Amino acid sequence: MSTFAELGLLPELQKAVADEGYTTPTPIQAQAIPVVIAGRDVMGGAQTGTGKTAAFALPILQRLAPHANASMSPARHPVRALILTPTRELAAQVQESFKAYSKYLPLRSTVVFGGVPMDPQTAALRSGVEILVATPGRLLDHAQQKMLNLQQVEVFVLDEADRMLDMGFIPDVKRIIAMLPPKRQNLLFSATFPDEVRRLTQALLHEPVSVQVAPKHATADLVEHKVHPVPRERKRDLLVHIIRARDIKQVLVFCATRLGANRLAYQLNRDGVHAAAIHGDKSQQERIEALDAFKAGKVGVLVATDVAARGLDIEDLPYVINYELPNTPEDYVHRIGRTGRAGKTGEAVSLVSPDEHEKLADIEKTIKKQIVREIVPGYGPDAARASSLMPEHSERRRDRRDREESKLTGQSRPAPSPRQPGKPAGKPVDPIFSQPYRETERAGASAAPAASTEPKKPQRQVAALLGGVRKTGS
Ligand code: AMP
Repeated sequence: MSTFAELGLLPELQKAVADEGYTTPTPIQAQAIPVVIAGRDVMGGAQTGTGKTAAFALPILQRLAPHANASMSPARHPVRALILTPTRELAAQVQESFKAYSKYLPLRSTVVFGGVPMDPQTAALRSGVEILVATPGRLLDHAQQKMLNLQQVEVFVLDEADRMLDMGFIPDVKRIIAMLPPKRQNLLFSATFPDEVRRLTQALLHEPVSVQVAPKHATADLVEHKVHPVPRERKRDLLVHIIRARDIKQVLVFCATRLGANRLAYQLNRDGVHAAAIHGDKSQQERIEALDAFKAGKVGVLVATDVAARGLDIEDLPYVINYELPNTPEDYVHRIGRTGRAGKTGEAVSLVSPDEHEKLADIEKTIKKQIVREIVPGYGPDAARASSLMPEHSERRRDRRDREESKLTGQSRPAPSPRQPGKPAGKPVDPIFSQPYRETERAGASAAPAASTEPKKPQRQVAALLGGVRKTGS
């Protein structure tokens, strides 16, 4: 295993890295650092948690070191490195890394992202920075205000290109690339390489060196995967049961949607489990506060959507729970990348309802692993039948609770599947899940669309959250 000195890093950078407590380069760093120092384009296959930020930040700083100066004149500090990231959190973390690694070099960096006022960002840009980390939308806003000159960019980094694609940022990214000088070094990092990312890679990179840390779709070996089959309407109870029974102090719980995450966090708090939600609808300040509270152990459960969790740097997380399976197997890989890091073991638990059977099959195909099914007594597929036999008064209590809650979350609870019409009793059952879900889902769809499957704009709910929708019933 090489050392940072052997990779040819400047003493100032070696010292900064030692201050961070890094002793040896991670595999992606060992591969990428010499290549980037040599000025080559790089196509990096690596996800968060591999040390990829330092893999590009350190050699970029080294390449910019000859320009380092302490002049007060903004003209002496043009933007020379531009790093685009898909999320605000990742942008903030990347800039933190640049700041930490450049502490012994007079190079300046700043970060711009949406959701916060533009003025302080404008002031920072005006005073001159060599390194600019940005999310695409806000960068274009600054460009439109003519606050940005990217004509001296020497190194361009597109971080998490697959996530840029998922979030629909590729047109913005292309617009930004068009603002850069043609002669420059390009580094592209992505955990996965869907076709469109490949096409972008071909258009952007010039004779790139490919660096890869883990084969595509590999999941951390130290992570134990487990599936608990459970009816959808029993998921929350099971989640609370798991947290309490195992005395879990810190867990990241994934939901498929923002509203679902909000709702779950609200419900968990009501159930006495201290939780916070983190997703794209939250302001930057709210996200930072939630993350800080989680890291500090003040909040035990962080409920997140895939987008918000991307790039979060939370070390040594023992558990990740998929309250809902993600829409793509790649997101499953990203999610469980939050645990089992740095040689530690971790557990990735998925609460899987019958409607998610296909997603589970796709995930297993992708990770080339059959995930162990373990029914938690009292919460297995039979629990649906049991809950449909619940005494009338407790059903009513639950309904009332849900009405109160929907006033707060602006969302109505999906009808519990056992009560949905059209579900024939005694149909042939799934070997894993005892309910033939698809029919149930269709039958229930017109009456009560499942909250967790709302991919499109939930305008009414948002309006309700803002107090703009009149109550239609009581
Ligand atoms: P990243 O994949 O860039 O998000 O980095 C994941 C985590 O690994 C961050 O907390 C880094 O500070 C840490 N890290 C990066 N490089 C090293 C290294 N060589 N040794 C130990 N930790 C590292």
